[in-house]
Amino acid sequence: MIRTVEQHRAVVAALVPAQPAEVVPLAQARGRVLAEDVVAGVSLPSFENSAMDGYAVRAAELAGAGEDAPVVLPVATDIPAGRTEVPALAPGTTARIMTGAPMPAGADAVVPVELTDGGTERVALRHAPEPGVHVRRIGEDVLAGRVVIDAGTVLQAAQIGIAAAVGLAELPVRRRPVVLVLSTGSELVAPGTPLQPGQIYESNGPMLAAAVEEAGGVAELLRFVPDDVEEFLTRLGERAKGVDLVLTSGGVSMGAYEVVKDAFTGRGVEFVKVGMQPGGPQGAGRLDELGGVAVVTLPGNPVSSQVSFEVFVRPALRAALGHPHPERPVVTATLGERWTSPAGRRQFRRGVLDAVRGTVSEVGNPASHLLAALARAECLVVVPAEVTDLAEGSAVEVWLLDG
Ligand code: AMP
Ligand code: MG
Repeated sequence: MIRTVEQHRAVVAALVPAQPAEVVPLAQARGRVLAEDVVAGVSLPSFENSAMDGYAVRAAELAGAGEDAPVVLPVATDIPAGRTEVPALAPGTTARIMTGAPMPAGADAVVPVELTDGGTERVALRHAPEPGVHVRRIGEDVLAGRVVIDAGTVLQAAQIGIAAAVGLAELPVRRRPVVLVLSTGSELVAPGTPLQPGQIYESNGPMLAAAVEEAGGVAELLRFVPDDVEEFLTRLGERAKGVDLVLTSGGVSMGAYEVVKDAFTGRGVEFVKVGMQPGGPQGAGRLDELGGVAVVTLPGNPVSSQVSFEVFVRPALRAALGHPHPERPVVTATLGERWTSPAGRRQFRRGVLDAVRGTVSEVGNPASHLLAALARAECLVVVPAEVTDLAEGSAVEVWLLDG
């Protein structure tokens, strides 16, 4: 059975339901997706305050003041930031005031200290301010009752800042789906240990776990499961409880010892060929056992694994998290070289961009074991299934990987 990319995307997306909200303290909110609009409970500023260190005045009393014609007024009081009881400004007086301190009633402007002699008993003011100058008005930034962060926003520093500024200590965010990343292969050993002939370092596990976390999920890593069906099912059974998705790599193609395929066939997981390259052999479904846990089986070749994650799993996780844009940013670029491409398969090739010329060119080649090329790539370049020849200068669809 051959599936289109869109058909398999829909199957995978249906396996990861929309995540419920949970409340987290601000310190844990960075990178999380806001679950509900944040409404300001207070206005910002919440009281009229000074925008400068200087003197609060009645502007009308300084008409005509200037560099050579200072107006001298008695300093009635000092108003540092944080002073809560502030007397009204008596006519014919001024108050020394600091940035962020409440304006005294009756004052309507601030003369910056730089335009005065800085006096503490009496002050010579060498400037005639317009009414309202250097005064921060109530609600200038935010009006109480208004939405300050929209649901679906990924919370970064500035959003955490505004939440704190309106007095919130915690925020409702989407629960992060828990993904068990399970890599199979009797040839795999842990990085940092010596290799025997025929063995390779396991790389899909850490790569996919990082991809899960980047997409907003929580990754649990189960590595070095040998190509043995019994052991595979036992190890999976020990760890699958409570996870939202099991993501396997390897063991799903056409050879012998295809442990994932052998273990899951006839148990609710469907194995298909998707019309794409890399990443043709795919599987997805809900296991009849283990509580019907959702399963996505990625191919083992590292580039196939990671590209399949990009195409199928990342958008599904992000949609479940309520991201307004689950997909990577897509742009059109000009191909900087000539390409040929097999018929009948949508290719996702690894590219680097020349931002000045607006061109994209291939890094490495389409082979699905060239992991170093993927690690250098800035984008995936999509070649439609029916296209077999792309002239230099063709317009191509590009998925930006760092967006
Ligand atoms: P498989 O789909 O299991 O036949 O694997 C295809 C190719 O990908 C083989 O060359 C495997 O050695 C390699 N491979 C599979 N799983 C991993 C992994 N977790 N890390 C690195 N390479 C892998
Ligand atoms: Mg294998």
